Amino acid sequence: MHLHDLTIKKFHDGLLKKEFSAFDVAKGLFDFIEDKDKEIGAYLSLAKDTALKQAEKVDIAVAKQEPVDALAGVPLAIKDAILIEGQPATAGSKILENYRAAYDATVISKLKSVGAVFLGKTNLDEFAMGSSTENSAFKVTKNPHDLTRVPGGSSGGSAAAVAAHMAVAALGSDTGGSIRQPASLCGVVGLKTTYGAVSRHGLIAMASSLDQIGPIAKTVDDAALLFKAIAGKDQFDSTSVDAKYGPELTEPKLEDIKKMTIGVPSEYFVEGLDPAVSKAMEEAMAALKSLGIKFKEISLPHTKYALSCYYIIMPAEVSSNLARFDGIRYGVRGEGHGNLLDLYKKSKSHGFGAETKRRIILGTYVLSSGYYDAYYAKAQKVRRLIKNDFDEAFNPKNGGVDVIFTPVAPTPAFKIGEKTDDPLAMYLSDIFTLPVNLAGLPAVSIPVKQASNAQSRVLPVGFQLIGKPWREADILGIGHYYEQLH
Ligand code: GLN
Repeated sequence: MHLHDLTIKKFHDGLLKKEFSAFDVAKGLFDFIEDKDKEIGAYLSLAKDTALKQAEKVDIAVAKQEPVDALAGVPLAIKDAILIEGQPATAGSKILENYRAAYDATVISKLKSVGAVFLGKTNLDEFAMGSSTENSAFKVTKNPHDLTRVPGGSSGGSAAAVAAHMAVAALGSDTGGSIRQPASLCGVVGLKTTYGAVSRHGLIAMASSLDQIGPIAKTVDDAALLFKAIAGKDQFDSTSVDAKYGPELTEPKLEDIKKMTIGVPSEYFVEGLDPAVSKAMEEAMAALKSLGIKFKEISLPHTKYALSCYYIIMPAEVSSNLARFDGIRYGVRGEGHGNLLDLYKKSKSHGFGAETKRRIILGTYVLSSGYYDAYYAKAQKVRRLIKNDFDEAFNPKNGGVDVIFTPVAPTPAFKIGEKTDDPLAMYLSDIFTLPVNLAGLPAVSIPVKQASNAQSRVLPVGFQLIGKPWREADILGIGHYYEQLH
């Protein structure tokens, strides 16, 4: 079996049929990464020795005919903001350059307990702030479909690793679109889960009321499997919830899917949408209609405030979360400091990049006395209005829809350097994804199918399905049947 063909499902079948060993696949992947990642730059660090040992353990269990989990031996790439004990965790920042994680994130302990293999840590925008990985302090990751273009961000390394077959699947984190937008730009599946579905313990925090860890995978089914493995209440994250996910999460029934109605919000199909994206959206909708799903136009009237609302709440939380990087407890310390204040100033000025500084300053401003009510408190009220729009659209009493369909990003992958001088243009690439974080909803990015005989290679484009809280099964179920279409 070729590495390119491996999904979690195929890996599991092949492993049980003894077509290959977990060790051989992991070893093969490391050889491949060594070569391929020179051009892509998806990984920041690799953990070859530990990964091969993890794989060997699974092979021993298989040889002894012990029951093994669907994720046993599956080689995964992990965003470098998620802690794996003993391994580097830079969050893409110079300030954490030499930091090694002291414990496993809850998602990692869960995946370790089912025998997953961790290949290494992937590149990201510094502290997950960005949409292209160009804000990484270490390197720019390239889009595997076109090396002159960005893979998206901030989980660009994870998306590029999966798209370039340097991992079977990956974990990313999504605060305003950081799983879904890179998934769309790289042509893979990315799931942002309901806020609270997955523990954030061991995720280096960006904006805690928005952050969620989630899977990036080659298929919707793989994303569902990974999600099931990491979901659940955790004593270390008080916002996590013990949601019950039934068998329909991984085995959806077509008769349930056919009964659904998908809402299309007029506010998301505006002028300025790239023609390639509009065309892809039409194709995806036509394909979904062929499954028997009904479509209905809906309105989410406060959408126009989402970007401003996000760029107040998010930096406010960033400025408090990043206060802990003071040069004393973690990572890099500024040199030649005099007094304590000087030490803070030197460490932060030296350790943080431009975008991070911009957001800390913005966040400190909107929280400062005198401006708090005008900005932060007001943005919280707007956040509620945005959430109310979704509640209304989903409300069965008003003939509400089951799922909402939108583009993921306004354009396909853009050129490296194209938006680095214009932060606002960069912020706009999350216009369709960040309302979902403000409302705490689940949403998945699924690649629009491309004709296999396409003459010129076309850049990937994803569509987004937004679900009701805790209804990941609805969006993944539709995605599953979309993927079965030819
Ligand atoms: N690109 C968005 C931002 O820069 C979202 C980031 C994220 O989801 N982590 O804030």
